[in-house]
Amino acid sequence: MADDEPHIRRVLTTLLESADFEVEAVADGRRALDRLETEDRFDIVVTDLMMPVMDGLALLSATRDLASRRDLPILMLTAKGQDADCEEAYARGASDFMTKPFSPKKLLARVRDLLD
Ligand SMILES: [Mg+2]
Repeated sequence: MADDEPHIRRVLTTLLESADFEVEAVADGRRALDRLETEDRFDIVVTDLMMPVMDGLALLSATRDLASRRDLPILMLTAKGQDADCEEAYARGASDFMTKPFSPKKLLARVRDLLD
């Protein structure tokens, strides 16, 4: 999971761990990509759109360029009013979107849907 807001990282980590997911939380797309470039197993990426260093769109494109991560579900978290970015992200292969602030229940349901 990648988000530059520590509060969101804490909330998401707590939420996903409570549902028995193992979570790695990083603060920007570059660090997320570093992890995705390894052989390690990841089942899903949940990423913020607006982040320093490397934003969610750049992370998305770079991840889809990795042969082993082409089909990895990627859930984007966006702030309200970023509809143009949402379209761009779908074009680049995003699996789904949620607008912040999100309901924890709905986010978990969305993550589970993407893993089905
Ligand atoms: Mg952000």
